[in-house]
Amino acid sequence: MTTILRNYIDGEWCESDATEWLDVVNPATTEVLARVPLSSAAEVDRAAQAAAAAFVNWRRTPAGDRVQYLFKLKILLEENLDELAQTITQECGKTLAESIGEMRRAIENVEVACGIPILIQGYNSEDIARGIDELMIRQPVGVAAVIAPFNFPGMIPFWFLPYAIACGNTYLIKPSEKVPLTMQKVMHLLEKTGLPKGVVNLVNGAKEAVDAILDHPQIRAISFVGSTPVARYVYSRATANGKRAQCQGGAKNPVIVLPDADIEMTTRIMADSAFGCAGQRCLAASVAVTVGEARQTFTEAIAEVAQARIVGYGLDQSVQMGPVITQQSRNRIEELIQKGAAEGANILIDGRKTKITGFEQGYFVRPTILQNIAPEGEIARTEIFGPVLSLIHLETIDEAIALINRGQYGNMACLFTSSGAAARKFRYEAEAGNIGINIGVAAPMAFFPFSGWKDSFFGDLHGQGRQAVEFFTQTKVVVERWQEWTRKF
Ligand code: NAD
Repeated sequence: MTTILRNYIDGEWCESDATEWLDVVNPATTEVLARVPLSSAAEVDRAAQAAAAAFVNWRRTPAGDRVQYLFKLKILLEENLDELAQTITQECGKTLAESIGEMRRAIENVEVACGIPILIQGYNSEDIARGIDELMIRQPVGVAAVIAPFNFPGMIPFWFLPYAIACGNTYLIKPSEKVPLTMQKVMHLLEKTGLPKGVVNLVNGAKEAVDAILDHPQIRAISFVGSTPVARYVYSRATANGKRAQCQGGAKNPVIVLPDADIEMTTRIMADSAFGCAGQRCLAASVAVTVGEARQTFTEAIAEVAQARIVGYGLDQSVQMGPVITQQSRNRIEELIQKGAAEGANILIDGRKTKITGFEQGYFVRPTILQNIAPEGEIARTEIFGPVLSLIHLETIDEAIALINRGQYGNMACLFTSSGAAARKFRYEAEAGNIGINIGVAAPMAFFPFSGWKDSFFGDLHGQGRQAVEFFTQTKVVVERWQEWTRKF
């Protein structure tokens, strides 16, 4: 019998009263794993009211006590790592090793948030005038919410959730309706920590639930991760309603390969970046710009590695790349490959029409390489979000950096070189918030912000680390005058 997913509101698992439901599909096998409700605005309201009620006591709970729940959560996540990773692979398609890596990143954020008792500290000045002191303290903002994308069902809510609750806020999670199972499991673990009811709530759904979150007067802060058009929409609607918002959008990540790069290392790292998670990573390398002689050496090497990639069901340990998320996504990727060819690109390796024995219905696209794409064409600019690497050739690093800086997005840019001077120039000039030097997926550790720029981010404060603490707290400045103590006991 198909599992019917429930929401978790005010410490209870509740049947949804949704009128619309979706199948949750394993993209490798096309098996229906569960049915997910597209919850109504009324359900969001109940969750927000529960979170607002829980906030009253939660903010009074000392930070040192609040993080005890995170210590417990970390242990539970570690103990259940394999099961969580399996669920991610089943609903999202990535390989088991990728799913384990994803959950490790989630856990890392829990660990960093355990330092909130010190990270939340303010500062003070004594005697700003005689007998007058001034201090700045941080207080939680109230109820906060995350709206998550499909590609990291386990990790992305953790860029925000641990910081939010450790800072004294209460919370609402809205997972992607395509991959809601992992957060169901995480919610069961959160429940096991003994967290007071209403502190974290889970509401499944899609646009109606999102709009209800954006308009709800009790919800004060929104973290969004997803595609750029939706990020822009969420940011404008949330901020128009007076909320704080941090909205991470899409990407089109360029990588420059200089002639002095170690081609063997570059190829290995680039293949993982472009084809890892089937290219469905916001930090996936999407365009490789070869400079000078790197054109020939890199092109030959990456073509060989791409062709050798083992594609299949991620639960099979020998598999190196799984399917993409849906049939629609597969169709879109294949159409974009065709468009690249129409724009004059040479399809060096064609991953379309992939059939995997035993999984003939699965949404597989093999690694694809497009050569000589038009630098200003649609393929060079559009986020493909699939295992497609496009190659452009330019004569100088200056031309390559200029091309990057003309781009719409600014999530990540990377350089492969053995020159420190070239690396410094690139780090200094490239317009992107996450920079990799001889790194293919420049994913910041949890104690650094996840720094998208341009159309990859709308807002001011990013997720993770200290910026998350800033986002989830509001500062209060107190100036106080006390007469100098003269009385003698
Ligand atoms: P998406 O924008 O389709 O969906 C993200 C969330 O928004 C989901 O929870 C969905 O229910 C909701 N949503 C979708 N359409 C909506 C609408 N019209 N109104 C209100 N809510 C809506 O994104 P996705 O396909 O799930 O994820 C892939 C995208 O996310 C890619 O563009 C990728 O680059 C981006 N992403 C960015 C980062 C980053 O850090 N910048 C990280 C991961 C993914």
